[in-house]
Amino acid sequence: MANKKKKTGGVKTDRRVIIVRIVCIVLALLMLGGVLAAAIMSAQAEELPAEETTGETTEDTAEETAEDPPEVSEEYKIFGEDDYLIRVGISYGDSSRDSHRVRTHNGASGFRLYKTTKDNSFEYLYTLEGADVSVCEAGNLRRSSDEDYYYYSSQSNTAAGGYHLRLVNEYKNEAEAKQALSALSEKAEQLEILVYPAYINGKFYINAGVYTSEDQALSEKAAVEEAFGAECVAALPTDTMITVIDHVSGTALFDFDMTDLFYGLGLYCLDNNGKKDYIKTYKGYYYDGVMEFRRYNTSGKDAVSMILISELETYVTCVVPWEIYNSWPTETMKAFSICARTFAIANSHEKAKHGQYDCDVCDSSDCQVCKGFDRVNANVINGVEQTRGQILLCDGETVTTYYTDLGGGSMAAAHEVWNMAAEKYLVGQMTPWEDLTVNRYGNWQFTVSPTELLKIVRNAGYTSLKGAIEDVKINRLCENSTYVYSITITDTYGTSVTVNRCRNVRLALSGLMYAANFVILHNGKIDDGKNKEIKETVSGLYVMTSDGIKMINGEERINVQTGNGIKQKYLPERLMIKTSSSLVSQTVLISTGEVIGDGGSSGSSSDFTFIGHGNGHGVGASQWGCKDLGLLGYGYDQILYTYYPNTRVAMYEDYLGSD
Ligand SMILES: [Zn+2]
Repeated sequence: MANKKKKTGGVKTDRRVIIVRIVCIVLALLMLGGVLAAAIMSAQAEELPAEETTGETTEDTAEETAEDPPEVSEEYKIFGEDDYLIRVGISYGDSSRDSHRVRTHNGASGFRLYKTTKDNSFEYLYTLEGADVSVCEAGNLRRSSDEDYYYYSSQSNTAAGGYHLRLVNEYKNEAEAKQALSALSEKAEQLEILVYPAYINGKFYINAGVYTSEDQALSEKAAVEEAFGAECVAALPTDTMITVIDHVSGTALFDFDMTDLFYGLGLYCLDNNGKKDYIKTYKGYYYDGVMEFRRYNTSGKDAVSMILISELETYVTCVVPWEIYNSWPTETMKAFSICARTFAIANSHEKAKHGQYDCDVCDSSDCQVCKGFDRVNANVINGVEQTRGQILLCDGETVTTYYTDLGGGSMAAAHEVWNMAAEKYLVGQMTPWEDLTVNRYGNWQFTVSPTELLKIVRNAGYTSLKGAIEDVKINRLCENSTYVYSITITDTYGTSVTVNRCRNVRLALSGLMYAANFVILHNGKIDDGKNKEIKETVSGLYVMTSDGIKMINGEERINVQTGNGIKQKYLPERLMIKTSSSLVSQTVLISTGEVIGDGGSSGSSSDFTFIGHGNGHGVGASQWGCKDLGLLGYGYDQILYTYYPNTRVAMYEDYLGSD
């Protein structure tokens, strides 16, 4: 490799600058401590007394109260008694809609319908044939075929009129309702009157006819009563009613109304000839779980929300491949499974992040991206399965597992990025194992003229600055990091503003960086915040310990035990690390952070060039860095303890049980 170095002094026109930062890292695996600890723990486990059994089987008690829900047949059960369920808002609050088109993903013929509650109970109602349906707010509906969408209207342009006649007979379950429907079907077909089931406040009914107003329905009442030999009443849409219609024809298939918003209507996909199928949303994403629809009525919004109810591990499986690539190392997959699971536990049930909308979390990056099973593969499933139930704790509390796309050679402490209290697991650290050549965020630069820069900082709110920018100085970096904590911007009139914290630095220089991890090239000089030249040196010896990667030596040279005795080296290719009982051989990772200036541009030397690494806020874990550690062969716990020091993996059941 031909590394060119150019002195900057005295060179006016040639702005080609090559900064070569060679960071030599030794990643040596000191596993002995971990093995020892594991041995001690297993020894302890053997000493524990056998678990006592109480002999109580509360579930089998014969006592039953009148309020007990009807017994659910095994075949209609979706979740286990002990499953931890997550409610994922897919369309909720202001994003609720008049209708949601849902389909079966793999050709199943329809859905099982459930009466659901906000606290995740499920009562089986009905099996609905119909693989392409829209779940709508009850009322007259117009179809916009372009948008695959039904919207509420005073008129109806389809069979989806919101008014019907309701036979007064009540049926207590699906079997009775289906029997009654079949008895009416021949007559209904003859007279071309639609008949379909409705579930209203705990009872099944049969609705007949499709009308667009109460008057129209009542005008047909006598004829319908005579045809079916049964008494009818007008069935009007209410603001708690949900109706399921055939998406293509608009024909009503099922009405649901509990006149109490505690309840929702759940759809669960039938099997396709014994093969599992999934429910697919109008967005094209398919999910494993119950899709719950509930009326959302607030001032100015009258619609239906769509919330996925998913078992925890299923939810984590859905999330992981949207947060990282499904081809990444399995250990990295496992680390992120734990991050996703930890977030879910920390933001659900009584700690629901979006509780006001009846869901725990949302499906976007505001929480964790959860857009269906498309990207799930065997690697993802392995990663989730092999860490089943595991979360990350710090001092017994769930860790807020912030992560960023690419750290760029270091991470910054959360309290130096945002205005928040320091967290002992969100600290600054050098992460030189990151491969900065994998994407455009590894090494980047932006050049801007003094007047353009003024425009940018004024747009960011620093309007006291005028004329042009004379100087941008890095005052200090974050602790143990190359992220820029503080800059001072000075204009041509001598007015200065100082900006502190990485987030504010990024905002002030908006569009000039992917991360606040940069140096400034101006007037032929590099400002890296350290006021000293960048040298090619060994910057430290990094070793994997039982608490993640630590730098144990900041010297420029290191003494190493090689195959040929102890030698002092700058860039050894391979190290032998002496532990208390053996020698561990480890390849040395050499990370070359090569930054090349804009050799082709014609900018003058008074331009400002921001040269940096990384993408994102720089707090917590680096996603690409976790991949690099996985490729280097480290375990998921070592990856997690490296990026979130002072934490430990634990079982969520133990965590919840210890409250
Ligand atoms: Zn959210």
